[in-house]
Amino acid sequence: PSVRPEAPVLAPRKTTRQIQVGDVAVGGSAPVSVQSMTTTKTHDIGATLQQIAELTAAGCDIVRVACPTDKDAEALPIIAKQSRIPVIADIHFQPKYVFAAIEAGCGAVRVNPGNIRKFDDRVKEICEAATDHGVSLRIGVNAGSLDPRLLKKYGSATPEALVESAVWEASLFEEQGFKDFKISVKHHNVVTMVEAYRQLSEQGDWPLHLGVTEAGPAFQGTIKSATAFGALLAEGIGDTIRVSLSAPPVEEVKVGTKILEYMGLRERKMEIVSCPSCGRAQVDVWELAEKVENGLKDITAPIRVAVMGCVVNGPGEAREADLGCASGNGKGQIFVRGKVVETVREDAIVETLLRYANQMAEDMGEG
Ligand code: SF4
Repeated sequence: PSVRPEAPVLAPRKTTRQIQVGDVAVGGSAPVSVQSMTTTKTHDIGATLQQIAELTAAGCDIVRVACPTDKDAEALPIIAKQSRIPVIADIHFQPKYVFAAIEAGCGAVRVNPGNIRKFDDRVKEICEAATDHGVSLRIGVNAGSLDPRLLKKYGSATPEALVESAVWEASLFEEQGFKDFKISVKHHNVVTMVEAYRQLSEQGDWPLHLGVTEAGPAFQGTIKSATAFGALLAEGIGDTIRVSLSAPPVEEVKVGTKILEYMGLRERKMEIVSCPSCGRAQVDVWELAEKVENGLKDITAPIRVAVMGCVVNGPGEAREADLGCASGNGKGQIFVRGKVVETVREDAIVETLLRYANQMAEDMGEG
């Protein structure tokens, strides 16, 4: 349930064909899904399943695991079976692991043709195995492993080079009558990445997996992903996303789900609207906003909470929100859906907001 009308949609989604990654549909009219990738050794089954459970709890829809060794391939059947969300095996270099992953019950397999020698010779077999087991694929083109012929032709991993590589590889599968795959064309540069996806989206109806590769540590990677995905999603491009961060993967999921919420593509959860503070502030807004955010972090109901530093915009914003406070003179006026319900001492603002938020969440059946 949403407490206010849904935000307007930025652009209609581009029509892509729909594929299945396990029980999650990707493309077509399916919701844009959030992916992440485990950082555990895949053969450490307990640790990997534990991390997958944490990612699932954070809102991850699909999880990818690396499969660089025989031991990792042997772990895939148990991981695929026990994970509550579909598992994608990530394969580079070794075609034998593609077949192992398909047979292990993974929802999909990510292949990077640029990293598999004599890949073209194996396409028919891969298509047959994937079809037999109802497994989809991701063709993952990456700036760092682009076909040397294309690098020579374009001089660097330009959008055109990434797209030519992807379209060529897609054609190898389609010549076999195989269509259950999505494509990514990742680059660490936001502008190159956005342009590559735009061009790719023009050339076919493949479902697209968005990613900025090697996006960097959390601060930089969050901004790169938000700007790149925001630009593309605003044009209706993108069917599934993975935020890459040099940080714990749960952070990737948190950022990914928030990007979708703010783009109006996923139901909004709890949101804090807080002012930046200025010379008029009569309370430490930053500290108060942080305390409110921490206090309300377990609330998942779509409640908008305003935290404002003074009476200039405070009461107005607080009234617009579902719940809010406007501070001044050591006190906080508490608003619930536009009405002042009580005035409390500054040190009681957080607990009072939390009490009302819990009540609202309960009323919405999400307490
Ligand atoms: Fe400044 Fe008040 Fe606006 Fe906050 S609400 S930015 S303190 S004028």
